[in-house]
Amino acid sequence: MALLDIIYEGDPRLRQKSTKIKNVDAGLRRLAADMRDTMLAAPGVGLAAPQVGVNRRLIVVHVPADMDEKGNPELNLALCNPEIVRSIGNEIGSEGCLSIPGWAGDVLRAEAITVKAMDLNNRDIRIKLKGYAARVVQHEIDHLDGVLFVDKLEPGTLRRVEDDDELGESAEGTAA
Ligand code: ZN
Repeated sequence: MALLDIIYEGDPRLRQKSTKIKNVDAGLRRLAADMRDTMLAAPGVGLAAPQVGVNRRLIVVHVPADMDEKGNPELNLALCNPEIVRSIGNEIGSEGCLSIPGWAGDVLRAEAITVKAMDLNNRDIRIKLKGYAARVVQHEIDHLDGVLFVDKLEPGTLRRVEDDDELGESAEGTAA
């Protein structure tokens, strides 16, 4: 297990467009495993490679069961080159970010998405997500394009949160 250093807003690496992954090798699988450990330790529900200073198109997601009260099972994902190929509906919800600790705000996202990606075995996959899981994946994909949730805030909704209150890193989970 290796924990990586999470970088914070203001670091230019968070604002770069990340490069496409052509082939998943042992080094990239190790990065994905370390990112997962780092995300779980934070704790957070998602992490994108740029947040650990690596500008490659890799995200990891861990959403506990029932996070969005829609009865969804636990979700664990590691996706290379994730791309939204279909979006349905709109929903405003609260988000935070491990790279902007102590802050949360409301962001409009698609309610359901279909994502095309490559898994860690170099296989093309396509997954459908809705609700909270869809929100987390949209947040992470934004990171790959240098976009942060504070760029998309509903006006006047940015607010301070404490780590241990219900909008903190774990519950709101939204730290991602
Ligand atoms: Zn984030």
